[in-house]
Order: sequence, then C-alpha cells, then structure tokens
Amino acid sequence: MWIPSQEKKPEISFFRLNAFIVYSLVLMDKKTVSEVKNILDSAKEIAIVGHRNPDGDAIGSSLGLYFYLKNLGHNVTVIMPNDFPDFLKWLPGVETIKIYEKDSTDCDAMLEKADVIFTLDFNTLERVGQTMQPSLEKSDAQFIMIDHHQQPADYAVVTYSDTSMSSTCEMVFHFIKSLDPEVKFSKDMATNLYTGIMTDTGSFRYASTSSTTHRVIAELMDCGVENSVIHQNIFDTNTPEQIKLLGTAFDNMTILMDYKTAFITLTQDDLDAHNFKKGDTEGFVNYGLSIQGVVFAAIFIESKQDQIIKISFRSKGSFSVNDFARNHFNGGGHENAAGGRSSLTLDETIEKFISILPTYKDALDHAI
Ligand code: 5GP
Ligand code: MN
Repeated sequence: MWIPSQEKKPEISFFRLNAFIVYSLVLMDKKTVSEVKNILDSAKEIAIVGHRNPDGDAIGSSLGLYFYLKNLGHNVTVIMPNDFPDFLKWLPGVETIKIYEKDSTDCDAMLEKADVIFTLDFNTLERVGQTMQPSLEKSDAQFIMIDHHQQPADYAVVTYSDTSMSSTCEMVFHFIKSLDPEVKFSKDMATNLYTGIMTDTGSFRYASTSSTTHRVIAELMDCGVENSVIHQNIFDTNTPEQIKLLGTAFDNMTILMDYKTAFITLTQDDLDAHNFKKGDTEGFVNYGLSIQGVVFAAIFIESKQDQIIKISFRSKGSFSVNDFARNHFNGGGHENAAGGRSSLTLDETIEKFISILPTYKDALDHAI
C-alpha cells in the first residue's frame, strides 16, 4: 500500500523466458522513488528510529539502511527507544545505536537537528513509547516510513507500507534497490537485512515468506552473508536460566482444546527466579502453536516495573490476532503475530482473555 499517493499496490511482475518464469523483485513506484531521491539529493542529518522493545527486524532494517545512507554521505544516527536483547548485540554497527531511554538529552538533540527521520518496522508514533513519542511529534523533519504492519497512520511524507511483506528488512532491500538498481550490498548491510528477515519469518517458515523473500535472501548470501553463523548467533545462545524459564513456561501452559487455544503465563516471581533479562522469553509463545489442533497461542508476562501485562499473540490461518489485540488488548501487529498489553492484574487479564474466547469460537474452529 502506498500512501499518500494512493497509487496501486506494487505487484510482483513476471515475464516468460523460454521455459522459465522469471519474477522481478518488488520495486517502489517511480513517483515515490523520485520523491525519496529529492529528499536525499544533498547531504542530510538523518535519524533512523525503530519501535520500543526492538526486535531483529527493527534493528536489522535500521542498521542495513544506516550503512547505505552513510555511504551516500549523510550524517546518520540510529535511535532505539529502549534497549534490545543480547542475542542481537553482535550485529555489525550495533555499537553506534543510541538508546533514548538511556540518553534522552543527546537523542533529543539529534532528533531536533534531523532533516529526515526514517521510522522503521512500526507505523503509529505511539509504538516508540510515551517517553520518546513527544520528541517525534514535535519534530519538523520529513518522515519516511518503511513498514509491513497493518493500518498505517498518516504522519510521513513518504509512506512505504506493504503488509504482504515478510519483514521491514525485506522492504529496505527493495527500497534500496529501487533507488539504486546497481547497488552492491556490503557484507555488513547484507548481514543485518538477512538477520531481520530470518527472525521475522521464523527462519523462513511463516506464510509471509514469499518466493521473492527467498530471492532476496539468495542475493544477500551472494554478498557474503554467513547464514549458519547468523543462525547460531541468534538461536544458540541460550543460558541455562533461559532454558529453565522455558520449563516454567511449559509448566504454566494452559491448553483449551475447545477453543484451539494454548496460553502461557509468567509472573514477575517466575522471571526473578530465573534472573530474567530482556529477550529471554523470545519465541516462547510459538510453542503453543506447535500443539496439534491449536490455532491460537498467547503468552502473558507480568512486568512489575512497567505495571502492565505484556502480551504476545500468534495464530494460524485466518484467525486475525491483529484484530484480537486491537479490539481487546490495546495492541496490534499482523494477521498471525501481534502484541498488546493489559493494565489489569495477571489473574484478571487471564479471566478477561478466557471470557472473550467464546465470541471467537466459530472463527477459531474455521481458522484452517
Ligand atoms: P511480539 O509479540 O513479538 O512483541 O510482537 C508481534 C508483532 O506485533 C510484531 O510485529 C510487533 O511489532 C507487533 N506488536 C507488538 N506489540 C504491539 C502493540 O502494542 N501494538 C501494535 N500495533 N503492534 C504490536
Ligand atoms: Mn517486522
């Protein structure tokens, strides 16, 4: 979806070449390309911002774009609202990332002098969190949004939004290719983009993984990406405490077969008992979906510090967790992966969740 130009959504075009069908990569439309080129035609102060609790896609897309823009001669700073998990801290360029929560004065100064602010992997300004949001709202910079979540807000001069995309990293790849068809991705750029595509697609297995995604991945590998090393860096770094916490999560799992639903709860005490650090529960929610017959999985994690219950939702087939999270838990995301939060206690939140399920019985029964 292109906003505000409202032009038709770019489609994967193809032509026949002898016996083969050759798909071209998804490029941005010409009008948007020229808009972006105009904005970037001279050296600019640029800030790249990701969402609160940044994940592999937010960090990977921001750093991938960072290396590209820096190479064009711009002065670029990547700002994340808060810290991110250790399993992402090996990515090339992470040492340059500024964390708003830790250094708001510096970050505010950078946002104030920015001519251009890219917002990556989110599409409403609330997603940076209440502390940082006012600084973006009062900025005079030109905003460019690159994002694949549903229902984008209208705050950017250029909105590159495509909910069919696997990841913002894949979109950054197409964005750069559209601006610069002859571009050579450096290994650092390619490693960041590969990582975000890998983490957002569950290692290329979710329905959002298209044949084009695989072509992008192939091209990134041709740029020197060490796919197996990346996989190890992301997935094979569990501490014994994390695995024990996973055990507690399994113990706390409730399976409601009548509603094809499985959910996990973790109290603050559970987290404390396992020396919890940000990112330690990454992927836990997916185990619910691996149960035969389950189409809806959730995890509810108590945060005493934020005084909320942080929730992740995952689904299979046509059951929209984006709608579910938006309608009931102040959240959103994608059709099959969304997040939200609750200000009730953990027990009250679970009571509310269970009381809502009957309304969705039909949708859950017919999800796949
Ligand atoms: P996770 O469960 O991994 O935190 O998030 C799943 C997906 O939903 C991600 O794409 C994330 O960006 C999105 N998401 C998570 N929390 C929220 C939220 O509170 N609001 C919205 N709009 N999206 C969210
Ligand atoms: Mn993403």
